[in-house]
Amino acid sequence: MSKFVFVTGGVTSSLGKGITAASLGSVLAARGLSVASLKMDPYLNVDPGTMSPYQHGEVFVTEDGAEADLDLGHYERFIDRNVTRASNLTTGQIYNAVIAKERRGDYLGATVQVIPHVTNEIKARIHRVAREGQADVVVVEVGGTVGDIESLPYLEAIRQFRNDVGRDNVLYIHLTLLPRVATGELKTKPTQHSVKELRSIGIQPDILVARADEPIDEELREKIALFCDVKTENVIAEADAWSIYGVPLMIEEAGLGRIVVKELGLDAAPPDLSAWQTLEDRIRNARIPLEIGLVGKYIMLPDAYLSVAESIKHAAWAAGCEPRIRWVDSERLERGGDDEPLVGLDGIVVPGGFGYRGIEGKVLAVRYGRLRRVPTLGLCMGMQCMVIELARTALGSEDANSTEFDAFTPHPVIDLLPEQRDINDKGGTMRLGSYPCVLEEGSLAHEAYGQPIVLERHRHRFEFNNAYRELLAGHGMRFSGLSPDSRLVEIVELRDHPFYLGTQFHPEFKSRPHRPHPLFAAFIRAALAYARASGRAGTSAAAGVEARP
Ligand code: GLN
Repeated sequence: MSKFVFVTGGVTSSLGKGITAASLGSVLAARGLSVASLKMDPYLNVDPGTMSPYQHGEVFVTEDGAEADLDLGHYERFIDRNVTRASNLTTGQIYNAVIAKERRGDYLGATVQVIPHVTNEIKARIHRVAREGQADVVVVEVGGTVGDIESLPYLEAIRQFRNDVGRDNVLYIHLTLLPRVATGELKTKPTQHSVKELRSIGIQPDILVARADEPIDEELREKIALFCDVKTENVIAEADAWSIYGVPLMIEEAGLGRIVVKELGLDAAPPDLSAWQTLEDRIRNARIPLEIGLVGKYIMLPDAYLSVAESIKHAAWAAGCEPRIRWVDSERLERGGDDEPLVGLDGIVVPGGFGYRGIEGKVLAVRYGRLRRVPTLGLCMGMQCMVIELARTALGSEDANSTEFDAFTPHPVIDLLPEQRDINDKGGTMRLGSYPCVLEEGSLAHEAYGQPIVLERHRHRFEFNNAYRELLAGHGMRFSGLSPDSRLVEIVELRDHPFYLGTQFHPEFKSRPHRPHPLFAAFIRAALAYARASGRAGTSAAAGVEARP
């Protein structure tokens, strides 16, 4: 029988509920427990795939091809276990399922209502995650903030859940904020109100995690315990961490893992958090500054490129480098038409994207990387830009393009496959999830992975057009990763360049803090060599560059 931990949030959004839930998962996994996770999102979209990254940050892709909330990326990185499509549910999915059942007549004439039909559907999904994940513990994060209209069916479902599976098998953790007011004092009133709100819908939290800008004292914990009816030892202070990867050790020290194990009566081994300690040492000792440009159109919201930025950091730390990410606006590059925003970079990453806006800036960035021999990594759309750029050079025509951006280009170097053409449903035509890729011996890619076949995750509609293979091969491009039937180009690289590689897939979804992705690791090694050759490694980086641990 699985046990269930429900994590809710109060007072305000953006408290780091996802990181806290993921970190809790990691300290439980460190005790040898099988941990599954579930994020319940209260919006009506069926998945975040159709939302702008400005709305909801990056869309994370699972092995089985679900377009999911970015918190699933945190779960995979912190718990080091792949999740599936079952790990993200939205109100849109729940209503979709309930309405489909109603149309099929499954409810046998009943009036279909939020309670019990919607809440039953939610509860069934929670049980499914437990079952499929063969979990000792399921950590369930309820999206949104207590008090939102949208979250109510979820809160009602998790309230009922305790009665359904037995009181000893369920734990409620509520995450709140202790704001600091002008006098410098930390205030508990918003926490009291938030707990009152939760209790008004029948949920008494067992554990409170209080977020504050610095550690809180015993007196404050006692006060919170008194007003919120929680044991003092179950009031956990979570101060702002020096890095998100510091949170597992911090909450472990605050006793969260121990308390959850005790409250749920879990049969757990002593915690082994040595991997997190090693990571902390690695991050703190990473001294060589490395400046990596991340070229995108959503750079105002770094969450839009979350997994890419994390992958750069994982690889940099493993190489003893301190990553400094320079967020380069592709539209500014496009408008400015000059290279200035790219000058001084040790490496360039062009991530994925959709739509024409900013494309010419990305093409300019990869051209800069190719001609100046700066290590360059293209991810999905980034790889397509590499192909477009080289084709334009090879053909002597700026008309070469993807049919996504120019439907009538005379040189469609990136195009839909013939069988994709008739489908016109923006939600459903993409190649999604994990596909095998066969690597060419002797290539950069093969050397980086050190194995002949890899599985990587996809999220795209367009593909390399094979009619241009020969032309581009004649200009130094190597098709070093192909689908097993050789029909689809998965990786391109340049022969005569220290590191110029693009992938049709998204390697960033498989990087782990303790185990950087091989392609990011190879890219960072090349960037370090480049920085050294330019006399930069060891000097401090240019002003205006943000270090984001
Ligand atoms: N827009 C491109 C396509 O659909 C690339 C997608 C991506 O970068 N994820 O093929």
